[in-house]
Amino acid sequence: MKVVLKNLTKKFPSKGKKGKDVIAVDNFDFEIPDGCLVGLLGPSGCGKSTTLNLICGLIKPTDGQIYFGEDEVTSLEPEKRGVGMVFQNYALYPHLTVRGNIMFPLENLKGKERLTKEEMNEKVIMAAALVQIENLLDRKPGELSGGQQQRVAIARALVKLPRVLLLDEPLSNLDARLRLQTREEIKRIQKKTKITTIFVTHDQEEAMSISDLIVVMKDGVIQQIDKPQRVYQNPKNLFVAKFLGTPPVNVFNGKIANGGLYIGNERIMDTDKADGEVYVAIRPEGFVIASDGVLTCDMDEIEVMGRDITVIAKHKDCENEDIRAIVSSETEIDETGDKIKFNLKKEKVFVFDKKTEERVL
Ligand code: ADP
Ligand code: MG
Repeated sequence: MKVVLKNLTKKFPSKGKKGKDVIAVDNFDFEIPDGCLVGLLGPSGCGKSTTLNLICGLIKPTDGQIYFGEDEVTSLEPEKRGVGMVFQNYALYPHLTVRGNIMFPLENLKGKERLTKEEMNEKVIMAAALVQIENLLDRKPGELSGGQQQRVAIARALVKLPRVLLLDEPLSNLDARLRLQTREEIKRIQKKTKITTIFVTHDQEEAMSISDLIVVMKDGVIQQIDKPQRVYQNPKNLFVAKFLGTPPVNVFNGKIANGGLYIGNERIMDTDKADGEVYVAIRPEGFVIASDGVLTCDMDEIEVMGRDITVIAKHKDCENEDIRAIVSSETEIDETGDKIKFNLKKEKVFVFDKKTEERVL
């Protein structure tokens, strides 16, 4: 089922007299293809949960429409939309068993959708099997680990075979190892069921690893929508460049003048773009150590991490406290010098206008 958002907007009125309205979701206009797993990515407060709540119907938009396939669902009650929702805090019923929790949405079906006890049981077992918790059906949530509880919540969201599955930071309460494992699990379940899925996270690595498409958001405004790797390789603005990637991109103050791009007095490449002040953002893997390199930095230290070496350096025009350059472990590095020179891989260097922070190069 494809999901289409048309000029979707949600304003929350200001609380105090002088306060401004919060535009939590500002004119969202995009289409999620059928069977796709989309990651909504952005810092806390950027409107991710509001977007999900609009899609599932828990809140109504100020403006705009939502379509599931060709059906407009904008003012449809949540229970009639056919969505499954999973929250960060699992929200299981503590007094019910796992079976009871997963069965709960089925027990509320009315009219000709009503199921017999056997039919319900069958569906519960199918959903439990999808998340591999068939052996836990008679336990209470209090007797499960966080990861197991989240699986129960996912099974409960899947049991009615929703048209759309919505997951709001579902992994945030899990420890690091479980988070990795559960995210693989979600990917696997999504591939298997082919249910159109929207996955919300503030963690860029999580979004990059799980999503077919990512939507990067800031202050209620969409910054960029594309395949994860393409957003990483082709950020539209400084915010997106900084938000994706670990270690983060290295941001320098630079300028364009005389047909060249400069950091300090060093001309790092030619360009035909207009003169002006710019930010030069260089991915850690964009540096190549070279004695005749174009960019000179102050050597700090090196960290050897198996496959790679991280060179930590400093530069007075760099906004990051430390520059992190990742080079292959075969590289010979002279650690004794107090300067280190780099050439730059062109495709790993992004240039942004200083005022608009939009990409110019
Ligand atoms: P995220 O999930 O990305 O952290 P939210 O969607 O929860 O962000 O919130 C987006 C913005 O809308 C925030 O500024 C938040 O304070 C505001 N907001 C969310 N819900 C309400 C509400 N019910 N009333 C007023 N403001 C709200
Ligand atoms: Mg949220």
